[in-house]
Amino acid sequence: MRLLLAEDDRALADGLQSVLEAAGYAVDRAGDGEDALYLGQTEDYDLVILDLGLPRLGGIQVLEDWRRGGRAMPVIILTARDTWREKVLGLKAGADDYLTKPFHPEELLARLAALLRRAYGRAVPEIASKAFTLDEDHQRVLRADGTLVELTGTEFRLLRYFMLNPGRLLSKTRLTEHVYDQDFDLDSNVIEVYVRRLREKLGKDAIETKRGQGYVFRG
Ligand code: CA
Repeated sequence: MRLLLAEDDRALADGLQSVLEAAGYAVDRAGDGEDALYLGQTEDYDLVILDLGLPRLGGIQVLEDWRRGGRAMPVIILTARDTWREKVLGLKAGADDYLTKPFHPEELLARLAALLRRAYGRAVPEIASKAFTLDEDHQRVLRADGTLVELTGTEFRLLRYFMLNPGRLLSKTRLTEHVYDQDFDLDSNVIEVYVRRLREKLGKDAIETKRGQGYVFRG
């Protein structure tokens, strides 16, 4: 899952970035509203964390512009003060949820997981298929035969994206965009390597190759 963290408080953003990366998110950062607006318009994010008090262009304006332009990604807004007015404005501008600072990172992670669940039309908290259940807290996967398979960070991120999109054809470009952050040198051969590793761990039928098009998760 790739997310945009738009927050001008550098210390807060640094802290959140480590927490988010440890939880398996690829994180792009924006330190002002103009950068946030541009990135949200041009990149395909699974989630956005948007501080409302951004320099150059306020968060509400950014959000309104995204929504007017048809950008539908889930957005959680961060408000500095506990004012109901800001929250109402944010929700009316198209936010899906909000958090008031200061907040505990665990609460942010739980809200992000809930937003993702809703975005993918799932009511149950667990990401599971016929053969596999993902253990998101420990970044491993439980097979139907009861064995646990440990995953590396990248394997986990890739498998989570596959499992959230079962039966769908996913191109290497799309997988790269959702598994890595912006700073990553986009070489789609890397995806091939990780798909091979996932097959070694999960069985080769779990992921089908569509020659020249991409992959389909069949687990
Ligand atoms: Ca701020």
